[in-house]
Amino acid sequence: MDGATGSELQRRGVYLSYGVSSAGVLGSWSATAMRDAPDVVRAVHEDYLAIGCDIIITNSFWTNTVKLGLVGLEDRAEVYTRLAGDIAVEARDRLSPGAWVAGGMAPPHGGMPGVPVDRDDLPREFAMQARHLAAAGVDLILVEYVGWIEDCVNAVDAVSSTGLPVMLGLRHVTMNGTMQHGESFSDLVAELGNRDVCAILLMCSLPEEIDASLPGLLKAFDGPVGAYPNIGYEFSDEDVAAGGHFHSLDTTSCTPERLAAHARGWLDAGARIVGGCCATTPDHIQAIRDLVPR
Ligand SMILES: [Zn+2]
Repeated sequence: MDGATGSELQRRGVYLSYGVSSAGVLGSWSATAMRDAPDVVRAVHEDYLAIGCDIIITNSFWTNTVKLGLVGLEDRAEVYTRLAGDIAVEARDRLSPGAWVAGGMAPPHGGMPGVPVDRDDLPREFAMQARHLAAAGVDLILVEYVGWIEDCVNAVDAVSSTGLPVMLGLRHVTMNGTMQHGESFSDLVAELGNRDVCAILLMCSLPEEIDASLPGLLKAFDGPVGAYPNIGYEFSDEDVAAGGHFHSLDTTSCTPERLAAHARGWLDAGARIVGGCCATTPDHIQAIRDLVPR
């Protein structure tokens, strides 16, 4: 799978901090890149496809009306979602026709402690995004950055009308081998019941947290399992006070070689999909690509 999109846009100079507040609201993040820098989004996809990624993720993480509403762009949600799909599908068709495009989406209420959760938003926004990504021609839906079992179940139901395969990406798993809020992977699989989920991935967690959590997921879920970690980034008061970038990108402490060593362990344990989340770069994904037979 590919590496970071949002932090990679940021690394290439795209401003992603609209709507950030000191109350811990993350703003609209990479959604505004569909207005400000669609050519940079295309270039990021191209770089990951050139490495040989088998799956790339559309830049539609928070192209929903809730997040775009924080910056007065709620009426652009459908346009940006469709554009994110179109750009990724076009790049794939041109550079790597055998690769898959995953239509990505994350819960509109985000994930910061203290930020109210409105679960009514999720089914509506996910259904909208899935519809527009399907129209763009994506191959599957990736519901990512989900932290609660309830959100996973609601999300799978919300996107099911597209008929596309659905993958789940679970955020912030723990050193205790659980989901973010202590729920177990076996309870997740039980609650999903006979809903059709084609893969479950651990994502936006540190490599060490994935080391701790992957065995439990492999035991709980019969289908394909994978991981795409972040490699360390921060949301600090200083970042917000500076009015600028809210992620302190740290690409030095987890080198491509170090990430690849973790990925080697995940593959040996039975993971079938590996990639990267926040702060990973094409260099990190190249190091992982080199581990996987073509
Ligand atoms: Zn991430």
